[in-house]
Amino acid sequence: MFLRHPLFSSYGIEHGFGLVSPPNNSERLVTARQVHGLDVVRVDPEGGERPEADGLWTDSPRTRVGVWTADCLPVLFSDRRGRVACAVHAGWRGAVRGIVHEALARLKDEQGLVSSDLLVVLGPSAGRCCYQVGQEVLSEVSSRYPGFRGRETIDGHLDLPALVLHQLGNEGIPAGQTGSIDLCTICHPELFFSHRRQGILREGRSMINWIQTSS
Ligand SMILES: [Zn+2]
Repeated sequence: MFLRHPLFSSYGIEHGFGLVSPPNNSERLVTARQVHGLDVVRVDPEGGERPEADGLWTDSPRTRVGVWTADCLPVLFSDRRGRVACAVHAGWRGAVRGIVHEALARLKDEQGLVSSDLLVVLGPSAGRCCYQVGQEVLSEVSSRYPGFRGRETIDGHLDLPALVLHQLGNEGIPAGQTGSIDLCTICHPELFFSHRRQGILREGRSMINWIQTSS
């Protein structure tokens, strides 16, 4: 039931993008109350209160962190050894205003990781084919990311995965250490729940996108 990406699989990193909750076993899934903000917070499996955040990371062994999405972009981060796991929910606001930078800053500052240590995979989201946004969004994208404008953004559509890959390149993540599932949630109703297509978003009817640290 879960899509997986060969980049993470080649490093033995457990993860998934899918419609149902992960198998119920000893690894607890930690999720957040998502608010389309920029906070990326550290969690441990004992957890306590569910944080209000759009990104979660952990270095606790065998711990899963996850984010819920419908058409927004899920971004999963790990280091090569699978010791650190991070999951981020990036809608246009979060993506344009820097949640990916925020996640990388947390992993670098608090774990001492450098760009070349990191692996990043983008999950399914609304694609350039379908993700129509307002002119003010496109203007904000072009003013913040002048190198991106025009190349990837067409006719009032935003290519959210391409924008995030552009940001990862700016952050020095080697291209060979990034990957994208590259499927549009709106074009594939048989695979995904789409907020834009179906009009409702709630847990259990959206995708859970998770990644787990190694032992
Ligand atoms: Zn599409």
